[in-house]
Amino acid sequence: MREKRESEIGGLLLSEDVIRERVRALGTEIGTAYSAGSFVLLGLLNGSLLFTADLLRELPPETEVVFWRVKSYRGTVSTGIPEGVEAEGGEFIGRTVLVVDDILDSGCTLSAVERRLRELGACAVDHCVLLSKQRPRLPGTPLPRWIGFEIPDRFVVGYGLDYNGRYRGLRSIRVLAEGEAIREG
Ligand code: 5GP
Ligand code: MG
Repeated sequence: MREKRESEIGGLLLSEDVIRERVRALGTEIGTAYSAGSFVLLGLLNGSLLFTADLLRELPPETEVVFWRVKSYRGTVSTGIPEGVEAEGGEFIGRTVLVVDDILDSGCTLSAVERRLRELGACAVDHCVLLSKQRPRLPGTPLPRWIGFEIPDRFVVGYGLDYNGRYRGLRSIRVLAEGEAIREG
C-alpha cells in the first residue's frame, strides 16, 4: 500500500535499499576518520532529519548530536539566503564539528553554517551531505568531506527532503516532475 503511494510521486532516483547501504558505508568511514578524537554531529533541520538519525545509528555510541534549523527554499526555488543560522548558538569552542545536511545545491547553506561555527569557536568543521547536485558553485563554497551521492541538477524529494512541507517521509528519493510541482504549488 505504502509502496504504491510512494511510487506515484515523481520518478525513482535512489531506492530505500541503495540509501541504506550508502549511509552504512558513510557511518563506517566517518567513525574510522574520527576514531582518534571526539566530534559532534550538527544536523540541519528539517531536511537532514532522517539522514542524521540513520547516520547517528551507524556511529560510535558516544557520538553527540545537535540540530540547527536552517531554511533557504520556497517551493522548488532557493532564495539564496539561509535563514536562521545567525540566531543559532551552542557549545562549540574548541570542538570538531561534522555538519550533516541533506543536499548540497548552491552551497550557501554550508558556507553560512561554517562561518557561524567558526564565530562560535569551533576548531575544525567538516561537512557530510547525502546528495550533491552536479552544478557550478561559487568559489569558496565548502567541499564536503563526505558525499553520499552525486545527482543531476533536478529538484528531489523524499528521505527528509520536502516540497512545500510534503514528502519528507518517503523512504526513497524521487525526482519531482515539473508539472507535479506546479500543480501542487
Ligand atoms: P544550498 O544552500 O546549497 O543552495 O541549498 C541547500 C538546501 O536547500 C538544502 O539543505 C535543502 O534543504 C534545500 N534544497 C536544495 N536542493 C533541493 C532539492 O532538490 N529538493 C529539496 N527538497 N530541497 C533542496
Ligand atoms: Mg536543508
